[in-house]
Amino acid sequence: MVSDRDVRIGIGGIAIESSTFSPLLSTRENFSILRGEEIAASYPYFENGIFEGRDDVTWLGTLKARSIPGGPVDAASYQAMKGELLERLEQALPLDGFFFDIHGAMSVVGMDDAEGDLVSAIREAVGPGCVISAGMDLHGNVSEVLVGAVDIVTAYRQAPHVDAMETKARAVRNLLMLLDEDIRPHRAWARVPVLLPGERTSTFWEPGKTVYGKLTESEAVDGVLDASLWVGYVWADQPRASATTVVTGTDSDAIAAEAEKISRCYWDARQAFDFGVPVGDADWTIDQALSLNQKSVIISDSGDNPTAGGAGDIPLMVERLLARPEFASGERTAIVAAVPNAEAVTTAMTAGEGAEVTVTIGGVNDPVNGYSLELSGTVYSIYENDPVGSDIVVIKSGGVHVIVPSRRKPYHHIREFENLRLNPKDHDITVVKIGYLEPELKEAASSAFLALTPGAVNQDIPALPFERLQRPIYPLDPEMSEPELTPRIFGPIG
Ligand SMILES: [Zn+2]
Repeated sequence: MVSDRDVRIGIGGIAIESSTFSPLLSTRENFSILRGEEIAASYPYFENGIFEGRDDVTWLGTLKARSIPGGPVDAASYQAMKGELLERLEQALPLDGFFFDIHGAMSVVGMDDAEGDLVSAIREAVGPGCVISAGMDLHGNVSEVLVGAVDIVTAYRQAPHVDAMETKARAVRNLLMLLDEDIRPHRAWARVPVLLPGERTSTFWEPGKTVYGKLTESEAVDGVLDASLWVGYVWADQPRASATTVVTGTDSDAIAAEAEKISRCYWDARQAFDFGVPVGDADWTIDQALSLNQKSVIISDSGDNPTAGGAGDIPLMVERLLARPEFASGERTAIVAAVPNAEAVTTAMTAGEGAEVTVTIGGVNDPVNGYSLELSGTVYSIYENDPVGSDIVVIKSGGVHVIVPSRRKPYHHIREFENLRLNPKDHDITVVKIGYLEPELKEAASSAFLALTPGAVNQDIPALPFERLQRPIYPLDPEMSEPELTPRIFGPIG
């Protein structure tokens, strides 16, 4: 395969995690779009456009679009991004390889398998002779169409995703290995009928830790090139939504055996997956936090978590905190991060720091699961031009500091609080609209709770209004019988 000329490898993809249960559509404006040479330059493992010393490779970036999670992508935005990617791909031909960089849980209005649609179009353009390697999030949903169109696919093995960049580099390494050794592998694909949220399937505690730990054992087997397992994405009412195993390799018997082993391991562990922290309704978590009588207790407002696709402006936790005399009076203090509302930001910025304001928050992004709430208080701080949240204000009502960004913004890092003259360690409770805590917040939390709150990513999975899932599936059908886990084998392409 490697001839005397450069190896030509294309890169591209569209990445978003989007909930079909969110009323807030994602549009092209929500995506950061990179083109051409900007793409290779965006990965930390490329140095001056060269990957791991491989100066025989020419990287041809097409289009790489990425958005923070949200609601379904509107069809016109998807078609526009797909169209531009394909146009740039045509200009890059002929290609020896293509690195398909996606999340895997993109919902597009009117489509059941957006990534399958996109990769099929890419395969058609590049032809069967081009090797395609995909790198994904383990919260993606993997259809037979997707696996049928790629030569190899790998996914994160840790959640929280501390191995995100390492995984993308592995996907590129996989691609170069196939090209160098002139291999077109088989793929064993198995759907595991289990659909659990990421908050219960972290690899930082059991049983996720053990199940995911086994992937390296499978990968060490002769004839296996990559072993991957997807938890899948719960908040997508689509037939493909499910846990999935894909094992890629040169020996079809070996990959079939390993895929079945991994799938069986995940299936057998299904009832043991649980939240890493105590869970309860909003008021219960506040009760628990207060009873501890300590600073820096963190509560996840999990149903409205924008990092999983929630609309992010449900003001429930602000309302529940202010309903308590301790917080209304200022005797106890809290931070709520965050409830976005552009109009409230304008009002507060116009009034200025220290001024008294009355604003309305909530009910804009998610009027279905949420509602609006009047908030009166002092403008505590202002931070302008945040790259994610744009202009941000803090309105202090009683003892509750409500962070109000202009746009949706998750809070994972202490310095983002410090930008607003806040620190969770100075307050009794900090509410974050995220699911499991990212390492830095986990470190800062004296105790943590997860509130089962309403929203587009409600953690009460059996209560979600699913209509199009493949049934039976756990936990919706808890009494279902043992599933068939024999994988489907896809033969070499080309
Ligand atoms: Zn993920």
